[in-house]
Formats: sequence, C-alpha cells, structure tokens
Amino acid sequence: MKLVYTRHYNIGFLGLERMHPFDSRKYGRAWKSIGRTVRRLRNRAWVGVPRPVSVADLTAVHDPAYLKRLSDPPELSWALELLFLRKLPAWVVWRVILRPMRWAVAGSLVAAREALTAGVAVNLSGGYHHAKPDRGEGFCVFNDIAYLVNRLRAEGRLAATDRIAYVDLDAHQGNGVSHHFLADRQLFMFDAYNPNIYPAHDREARARIDCPVPLPTRCVGTEYLQILERTLPGFLDSISRTERVGLAVYNAGTDVFTHDSLGGLHLSAEDVLARDLFVVEQLRARGIPVVMLLSGGYSRDSYQLVANTVIELLRRYSP
Ligand SMILES: [Zn+2]
Repeated sequence: MKLVYTRHYNIGFLGLERMHPFDSRKYGRAWKSIGRTVRRLRNRAWVGVPRPVSVADLTAVHDPAYLKRLSDPPELSWALELLFLRKLPAWVVWRVILRPMRWAVAGSLVAAREALTAGVAVNLSGGYHHAKPDRGEGFCVFNDIAYLVNRLRAEGRLAATDRIAYVDLDAHQGNGVSHHFLADRQLFMFDAYNPNIYPAHDREARARIDCPVPLPTRCVGTEYLQILERTLPGFLDSISRTERVGLAVYNAGTDVFTHDSLGGLHLSAEDVLARDLFVVEQLRARGIPVVMLLSGGYSRDSYQLVANTVIELLRRYSP
C-alpha cells in the first residue's frame, strides 16, 4: 500500500486549532504516531505531494463564481464556521487555511492514482465531503472526491464506463458528494450516517444515496459493525456483479468515535479499527482498488484512531 502525506497539510496559525473542534494538526500527529510504531514500513510506503491544486484546476468541479467569492472572508467564515475570519484580510485566509486544503486535495488525487497500481492507498488528509459545486459547508471548501474522479477520468485512468464505489462512513452524511454526483450515476454511494445531525436538512442529498444506512440513535460499536456487515457486502456485490468497479473511495471519518463532540455515535477505538479493516478487506476481496481519505474527526484522539488503522493496513498490505 501507499501512504500520501506532506507537512503542508497542517494548519497551525492564529490559534485556529483552539477555536474549532477540528484538530487542524491531526495529520502531522498521525504521521508521527505511525512512525513511532512502524517507521520503516511507513517510510517505504510514503509518497509525497509535488504541489497544491491550483484554483484553475478546481474549476473542473467548482463554480468559478464560487471560487472567486472565496476571496471574500465572510463567505469563507461561513463555510469554515469560524466567525473571526470575517475580520482577516483575504490573503491571510488564503495562505493560512485554503493553501493547506489545496495541498490536501492534490494529495487525494496522488493517493487515488497510487491506489490504482498498489491496490490500497491512504491520503493522510482530505475527505471534504460537504463541499458542494457552488458552496462550502461544514469545514469543507473544495471537494477532493469529485476532483479526483474528474481528474482520473480526464487522464484516462478511469474509463467513462468504469463504476466508482463511494463508501462514506463519516458520522455526517456526505451531502457535498451527493450534489456533485446528482446526475452522474457511475458513482455508487454507500453512506452510513447519523440521521439526527447536520446535514439532516439536505433531503436532495439523501435521496441521491444508492445505499443509505441511517444509523440508530446512540449507536454502539457492536450494533454498528453488525449493520455494516449486513449491508456493505451486498452493496459491493450488486454494483460489481455485471460491470467493472474501477476504484473505491473510502471516506473514513473518525467522528463515529464515542468521545467525538459532533458525531453522536459510540464506537470505541477498537470498533473504529475493526470498521476500517472490514471495509478495506471487503473491497480487496473483490479486487477493487481503494483510496482512503480521513474526513471528519473532532476528538483529541482522532489522530491516534487514524494512526491505528494506517499501522494495521501497512502491516497487512505492504509488499
Ligand atoms: Zn463528519
């Protein structure tokens, strides 16, 4: 497997990390934690990111008028739920917050390309599943999932007829991905989410999910894993039986963790690890390449949950 990471992912300035539940340095923390346990495997699997994605590249999947509006701090403060951004000059916001996100979007594409040859790849960031074509939401400004699909098709690495499996297990429903693929039915969505939290209002997004799995309130790990075992294999069989599935995108949000302040679910650290390994195993058993993206995770332990999974994937899927 391959592990994509650059230190440019980390946002650490202006005290941002203390003003939002999002641990904006979790990427670097996960990277270091992985290195403490399996340094040699990590370094062998590592792939860097040459440059951040440009605004011009992003017009492939985002409305140019929206991208232009991002120069306006109030628009961005709304997407990032950080009201103090309204008062900052636009250049500060671009350099400090949007630049790390552009690196992450580039990293998701690098990881997706690697997945096609290595079978399994993880981007140690990304998974901005709430970003819509014309609007940022829920700490997501650019949709790296839509971007990587668009680029892989443009590069000819995915054929127009190739199916894409999108497995979203972040606690929040991936409404931005729904909106990007409203008319594009080559991407098949499996989404297990807490139906009582944001973006519960977005009915159009929920209606787009091919296999919706709204979770019971205060769902615990054993119940969660049973639901996943009952639903995911059938979904993967149904989409891969007659057509080729060229790639799976696994949006592996760690906000399902019991100490997460936003997810409202009750999985232990062991449950999160079991979930991730189950998903990757199911995909690999069917010969489907998988790129894993981190997505949400708002607890202090989020980085360690990510590290636990990557360490185990490195042990199992390194050549
Ligand atoms: Zn989430």
